[in-house]
Amino acid sequence: MKKMVSDSSYKRITHLKVLWENTQPFIQIYDHDSEKITTQSLIGYSLSYQVPTPSERVCVNYGDLLQAEKQNRCEKSVKSGKKCDNCIREDNIYASQFHSVHKKDRSSISQKILKRMQKENILYIAGFFDGSTKVGTSASTRIQTRLLEQGAIHAVLVVETPDGITVRLLEDLITEELGIGQAVSIGKKIDGLLKPLMRDALQKELKIISRKVKDCISTSGITDIKEITSTWDNEYSAETCWDTIQKYPISLSSGNHDLKVKSVVGRVAALSHNSGMTLAADLNELLGITVESGKIAGDEISVQAQLF
Ligand SMILES: [Zn+2]
Repeated sequence: MKKMVSDSSYKRITHLKVLWENTQPFIQIYDHDSEKITTQSLIGYSLSYQVPTPSERVCVNYGDLLQAEKQNRCEKSVKSGKKCDNCIREDNIYASQFHSVHKKDRSSISQKILKRMQKENILYIAGFFDGSTKVGTSASTRIQTRLLEQGAIHAVLVVETPDGITVRLLEDLITEELGIGQAVSIGKKIDGLLKPLMRDALQKELKIISRKVKDCISTSGITDIKEITSTWDNEYSAETCWDTIQKYPISLSSGNHDLKVKSVVGRVAALSHNSGMTLAADLNELLGITVESGKIAGDEISVQAQLF
């Protein structure tokens, strides 16, 4: 049957970003007809859409810039990838100033960046369901949001520093001395959600690591640090919909889909499918792709029944 791509019952939209606010997940959406940005709650959100061919993309930064009324620098349309050339260039300049700030002489850092660094930061160790662990840092005020964005399952908050430079020095020290990395791939995060370790085992492992981290920091000679003893658990990952989940076998970036979001861990969603199954997919696949949203029958999928 021919698809009615120009049918007004379809809305042309582009999902731009997954955002966490007050520990709730939201999705930022650009509406092509009204040229407006909306933010909708992800839990219960209906992903019923078709991707037209050839597909079109919108720069995922466009929404933020449109809201800040600074969209002129964003080229809006993108041929491949997630961001336009102008946004990539600006991100790179920012990243080079910001992320390596602790390796520079303080006199060579701009006042603007130094000012941004003058707030309390937390060093944490996070664990994922495949058993991966990482060391990370976050401004103290947004530590919960940071852990939710990353899709961490359990975390131990280790120390608080008075600024963003000290915390980065400590982070590098932990990586060098203890061999704990600073990033975990999305593939490992998804593997973990599909076949999770026991939560207790993960908590125990992180407790052992955090003790080593504290020892390492106490012998580093870096002072002016406040020790903290608190842990964090991702409540979304404990929801029952993740118990018997399998991977959504097709990509969200093309074809037809009819799914509903049940839960979100990081950027991975647990989606209910009309077959009754709950399936996991990386929402990043959808971001930046222009879709026709409406009442759509999803493409047929074949998922093997899980053996227990
Ligand atoms: Zn852009």
